[in-house]
Amino acid sequence: MSVWYLTHPAALRPLKNKLHPSLQRALVGSVNSVRRFQASRSSTPRNIVIFITNRCQLRCGACFYRRELNDSVPLLTLDEIRRLAGSLKHAPRIVLTGGEPFLREDIDEICRILNKYAGVKNISINTNGFMPDSIVDSVGRILRGSRLDALKLQLSVDGLKAGHDTFRGAEGSFAQAVATLKALKAIQRTHRNFFIEIASLVNRTLLNDIRDFIEYFQEFEVPMKFSVIRSSDNGTWGLPQDEVSGLAAGADPAYPDIDELLRFQTVVRELNNACRYKFWTEFQQLKFEHTLRALKDRQRALPCYAGIVDAVIYHNGEVAFCENTLPVGDLRDSAFDLRALWSSARARLLRGKIKNCVCTHGCNILTSMAYDDETLLRAW
Ligand code: SF4
Ligand code: SF4
Repeated sequence: MSVWYLTHPAALRPLKNKLHPSLQRALVGSVNSVRRFQASRSSTPRNIVIFITNRCQLRCGACFYRRELNDSVPLLTLDEIRRLAGSLKHAPRIVLTGGEPFLREDIDEICRILNKYAGVKNISINTNGFMPDSIVDSVGRILRGSRLDALKLQLSVDGLKAGHDTFRGAEGSFAQAVATLKALKAIQRTHRNFFIEIASLVNRTLLNDIRDFIEYFQEFEVPMKFSVIRSSDNGTWGLPQDEVSGLAAGADPAYPDIDELLRFQTVVRELNNACRYKFWTEFQQLKFEHTLRALKDRQRALPCYAGIVDAVIYHNGEVAFCENTLPVGDLRDSAFDLRALWSSARARLLRGKIKNCVCTHGCNILTSMAYDDETLLRAW
């Protein structure tokens, strides 16, 4: 069972709902304890975020990768990605990000290599949706060139026209994102393994426009997810100072505070309940709850699996446990052997140093939830 399926629980709910509640608990508890044991013994990570590029046409104020964008460091080559794929013990779930991943014209080759040499079946790609034609073309080539169980595009939309264009710092970016969404919906009609999700960073404009935003996008019948703006200096606590990555979003007085986020949560829940199409899955609602709890209490409610299940590979080949911590090493210094790097002395040292930190990073919270019995009982 993959994290991806757990974010789309409706697919598995009919089976689970046939069981008596005590059997559901027994089933989830036993399956999950095996999964946790397997995860703790993994010699390579099972969820990997790969920054396949640092090129981007936009300059969003909330981008934590903004200082690294468009530098001249050579990107990972196809041959380097093939060597990396060959070192993976378990077929991981992959997220391709950047930068704007679709600026790499060989993105279909990257997917094909991961599929062929690492057995990857599940790929998500984050996009700003700024180049509809090229995105549609690349998606078609990926679907034709790789045998995937699921290809998911996560399209960033942070408001309606005025709010999104301002937040993304580019006039016309909303119109382009909507054109991309429409074109992707057409692809979805003919490909059962292709999925789309709208991902929004909660900012004050979205907060004010949320009712109109939901009304506009609900007709597309696409799941939506909401995240708080975060980086290593925003929504992260308890990391040893000598391990903080320094990846930082721009300071913006328009970031909502906890009370505004709680009001936002209430409104979106109401809207979701009132909609025929349930755009906010139970799993995503729980993730938002965990995020707000972390913001409020600054304590871990669930164990973090960064450095065990989760890994990040940057455009320059550096590998980190999460985007908030400093890298554990560089693939280019390790013959592209992620397995060796994952068991290195530096990796073991860092695992010992991140036992008590807490953050609002949605990807890592989702992984924690995917190994938590109570979450699965409620949202699976
Ligand atoms: S589109 Fe993404 S990578 Fe590009 S500047 Fe915005 S947040 Fe950063
Ligand atoms: S809680 Fe996990 S994801 Fe967050 S900073 Fe610590 S190690 Fe990284």
